[in-house]
Amino acid sequence: MPGTGNVECDASLLPRSVWDELGDGAHPGRRLACRLLRASDDELPHLLNAAQAARGRNFPAVITYSPKVFIPLTNLCRDYCGYCTFRRDPGQAGAHTMSPEEVMEVARAGERVGCREALFSLGDKPEFAFPAMRATLRALGYRSTLHYLEAMCERVLRESSLLPHVNAGVMGAPWLHRLGAVSPSMGLMLESTSTALLAPGAAHDHAPDKAPALRLAMLEEAGRQDIPFTSGLLIGIGETLEDRVDSLLALRGLSERYGHIQELILQNFLPKPATAMRSHPEPSRGTMLRTVAVARLLMPKMNLQAPPNLSAPDYEQLLDAGINDWGGISPLTPDFINPEAPWPHLAELERRTRAKGLELRPRLCVYPEFVERAAARSPLLKERISALADEAGYAATEVAA
Ligand code: SF4
Repeated sequence: MPGTGNVECDASLLPRSVWDELGDGAHPGRRLACRLLRASDDELPHLLNAAQAARGRNFPAVITYSPKVFIPLTNLCRDYCGYCTFRRDPGQAGAHTMSPEEVMEVARAGERVGCREALFSLGDKPEFAFPAMRATLRALGYRSTLHYLEAMCERVLRESSLLPHVNAGVMGAPWLHRLGAVSPSMGLMLESTSTALLAPGAAHDHAPDKAPALRLAMLEEAGRQDIPFTSGLLIGIGETLEDRVDSLLALRGLSERYGHIQELILQNFLPKPATAMRSHPEPSRGTMLRTVAVARLLMPKMNLQAPPNLSAPDYEQLLDAGINDWGGISPLTPDFINPEAPWPHLAELERRTRAKGLELRPRLCVYPEFVERAAARSPLLKERISALADEAGYAATEVAA
């Protein structure tokens, strides 16, 4: 199918032939993708139809989610992103590094309510900035946060029926290798390729680990190591529409080169009180629908996720734009990154998904098509994944002995 990258992209309505070509599976070029992000309200139904057709051609009528618990191993972080309410400095109210007992308590509670994923989320390299974190790690018996994380992942694997998924910020090749042996999948949001976000007063001012080049290099290294990886964009933090398309194209390029990107998250920025960006406008529902639809057209075969709790109350509209996954849904722990936005009740999520003619199905943290390569990374992962995956690679209803 020829691409439609040469279409003239001005403010006039796109010709019918463009929508027909997109609906038939043509890939938009960069210029057309930028134009589609500016689709008028009259054009939006055409865009959504093309995105749904792309999902229908490449996926069964199944929308997945991962039943998970959230384990915020430490909320100390050396970065200061303008939108973050998760991070703390040592001594600040709410600052906390979980003990091994606390970690296992959450994992066991998750196990009791049928969770399969232990999502480890933590601040980036806190011990580089804070002597107090170095002291905490010493008392726990570990040299660094990543050493502690590795030990906790292994313990969760050995002592529970949960599989760890690690979101631990930027790290080098050796740590990707080590954590890849105790975590079937890992994640690092690209957020954006825009370096303008590092400028004084912008979202990533004072956040050295958010430099796009650093994050792209880590995503590339994960590709070289063939680690099933989750990445994505944070929408509405000051990037331009062109930046969004460039970010999607950068992730598509990595995925085409290495085939390791299992999932792409499209997360909308929400302003939070007491953050530097509390007055920054959030992206509209229309912006999110256009962005998801364009991502679907640029990457028809990619697992596309948008978190429902950040799009309440009418989150099911995201299905119209071509997502095929709701991400991690916890029956137990709050979303510590967006504590003001509770996850929907599972029965309600299922009802709304079914109302769109789609079936809701639980998956593991690693997607079915990536299960085999995750299992190949270590004997322990192989044993645990085989006990938890069904024949098709989704989450089994019963844990095998
Ligand atoms: S978003 Fe992540 S890296 Fe940025 S301040 Fe928060 S915890 Fe740190």
